[in-house]
Amino acid sequence: MLAESHIYFHKAADVLGLADNIRTILLTPRRTVKIGINIEAEDGSLQSYEGFRVQHNMARGPMKGGLRYHPAMDEDHAAALANLMTWKTAVVDVPYGGAKGGINCDPHALSERDLFQITVRFVEQMKEVIGPTIDIPAPDVNTNAKVMGWIMHEYSKYEGFSPGVVTGKPLDLFGSEGREAATGRGVMDVLAEALIEQRMSFGDITVAVQGFGNVGSNAARLIAERGARIVAVADHTGGVCAEAGLDVPALVAWVAEHGGVKGFPSGEAFDGPEIITWDADVLVPAALEDAIHKDNAADVKARIIVEGANGPTTPEASDILNDRDVLIIPDILANAGGVTVSYFEWVQNIQHFRWDEERINQELDKKMSRAYRSVRQVASEHSIDMRTAAFVLAIRRVGKAALARTHIETELPF
Ligand code: NAD
Repeated sequence: MLAESHIYFHKAADVLGLADNIRTILLTPRRTVKIGINIEAEDGSLQSYEGFRVQHNMARGPMKGGLRYHPAMDEDHAAALANLMTWKTAVVDVPYGGAKGGINCDPHALSERDLFQITVRFVEQMKEVIGPTIDIPAPDVNTNAKVMGWIMHEYSKYEGFSPGVVTGKPLDLFGSEGREAATGRGVMDVLAEALIEQRMSFGDITVAVQGFGNVGSNAARLIAERGARIVAVADHTGGVCAEAGLDVPALVAWVAEHGGVKGFPSGEAFDGPEIITWDADVLVPAALEDAIHKDNAADVKARIIVEGANGPTTPEASDILNDRDVLIIPDILANAGGVTVSYFEWVQNIQHFRWDEERINQELDKKMSRAYRSVRQVASEHSIDMRTAAFVLAIRRVGKAALARTHIETELPF
């Protein structure tokens, strides 16, 4: 995973003509913290876990990134994802660096009481290295608003009232309006920019969506509200399609009740993996890593791919699609709506002031559209694909901020 994110970094660094020593500086995490977490579980047994936090870069501001609870969580995963957060926050120009962390526990096998204990121990041992001006965790795989509320409460015991230590908190505990739908909304925003560029409108397009969780369902709902037809949706239970367009709110209600899209009565069923090569103008992969790979990339029919998930396209598949002139709006741009509204949440926490949803959505739309146009400008300047351009833009911003903090008289090659 670390290797993949480095491939994109080096491709962009080549465009910029970055020297090896600068690459090493930009890729090396500022700090990696690994802790042991021991709890007495509800059944009386002693359980041990490992917790991680990789803080990659803080040249542009406090570090920001999710906290993942997963048995496969390790330092390598945290490092790769922390690295991506540095570039993602720079692309959308929010004043943050990148971090990521987690605990190698399986929350599905734990009681809520045990999960609470694990979270409390994590905060006890991490409290010196996180904080509203240092590193601000957020929900990620298997963590949610409730866990963020626990973290805020625990951290505030040591440091005093500190709502800005985490984002993605419950609305009743200094969370933000608009956070829930933010990543899906950002997906819709960047697609809107791409359609303007291609002189198309939402009314002209058909869309296929992989994943119908937070990102996929909100993206589908908002894209449909603008007039597009969502012709196929797939999740871990299977796929449903309707040439005239699926009734997205009805599908949302079905999934809430049945746990997946399978069996939705107002659509025809198909095998989930077929979604990647669906005959639609736009494909939104919003579920898994590596969903588009070297064996299915040549059969993708969509002309625009909006990467709602992190890393849904392998580097080989990216090359195949670029050669076929398929427009890929890359993850570090397309799914940055979530971290952008996290930033708005942090700003509200610091100001002790609440914005209404309308303001959040307007500010988000503005940030995402501006980011798309900035990436497009870099892509045109260097005749490169949007992913490489997003990395070029991010490396430039981080590199310039890092240099401006020092007395070093080096010229960056950009
Ligand atoms: P989620 O858990 O809410 O939803 C995941 C969806 O993927 C579910 O619909 C699930 O059924 C589907 N899925 C799982 N396995 C599948 C399979 N084999 N085939 C098809 N579908 C499958 O997660 P989410 O928050 O929507 O996140 C989705 C992706 O977006 C992840 O890569 C995540 O890292 C990324 N992301 C999320 C956010 C956010 O704000 N939630 C922000 C940035 C990036």
